[in-house]
Amino acid sequence: MRLQGGAGNQWECLMANEGKVKVIRSIQEMQSIARELRSKGERIGFVPTMGYLHRGHLNLIETARDKADKVVVSIFVNRIQFGPNEDFQRYPHDFDHDLAACEEAGVDYIFYPEEEEMYPKGYSTYINEEACSKRLCGISRPHHFRCVLTVVGKLFNIVQPDFAVFGQKDAQQAAVIKKMAADLHLSIEIIVNRTIREEDGLAMSSRNAYLTSRQREDAGVIYQALQKAKELVDSGIVNTDRVQAETSNILQSKRRLRVIYVEIVNPETMEPIKEIVSGKSLLAVAVWVDEVRLIDNILL
Ligand code: AMP
Repeated sequence: MRLQGGAGNQWECLMANEGKVKVIRSIQEMQSIARELRSKGERIGFVPTMGYLHRGHLNLIETARDKADKVVVSIFVNRIQFGPNEDFQRYPHDFDHDLAACEEAGVDYIFYPEEEEMYPKGYSTYINEEACSKRLCGISRPHHFRCVLTVVGKLFNIVQPDFAVFGQKDAQQAAVIKKMAADLHLSIEIIVNRTIREEDGLAMSSRNAYLTSRQREDAGVIYQALQKAKELVDSGIVNTDRVQAETSNILQSKRRLRVIYVEIVNPETMEPIKEIVSGKSLLAVAVWVDEVRLIDNILL
């Protein structure tokens, strides 16, 4: 609750306090809240996250706040979407920080379930998209999107939102979720917000917390490479191979970086394209900065 201004604001402050964020841990309770809100005609905006919230997440929350009567943020680190040698065990978390950030951002409910609540013993149902999800990150992380779609589908059924907000930073994830929503006739609008960046252009990510100061410095080259690619395209170069090669060269100029992929694709299907069409071509990259995996993209 922020106490600002003169006496005229007292009532507003009381109202704000009443809207204090509520933390919901049970699926049944979240569903019954959602049912009640919907029966009163309230519009539910939803922001799914894995926590350790940063300005990228807050930007999604702001969009939800603008368009919804009630905002639900979920915080759940979905173990199944991590590969066996990936970073689930060390994925950063700080619930107190997230709670304060949600409070400050005017979130109404945080859905914060236990793993056993989401995946009880004997759990065996998954959602599989079979085209878009198989490309780019789907090649090096073969089970990833199946598990992302499964958890997002479950969260949609629990929170019953009118719309959900995702980040363009994870462009393939957003495309796969849009495809699921269309293919399964979900009546949930999928909104995708621009990528929020650090001052040097590095896309904000909870995983940036893993970077040492030297790695962090080298990671700045990712955005430089994306921008150089955009400059090339703006100067009239439409040959995909040429732009991809230039981008890879810039990334590889840093000793700590190893390229996983650099691809120019259709932004909806993630299919590779031969010739760049301005505004309809997405340059997507994934790199290792030593042992930290980072992704980014830019619309050319
Ligand atoms: P995560 O907690 O990393 O699973 O991300 C939750 C949501 O926040 C996803 O929709 C992400 O795409 C989005 N997101 C993460 N980082 C950013 C960013 N830098 N800018 C905008 N959205 C982001």
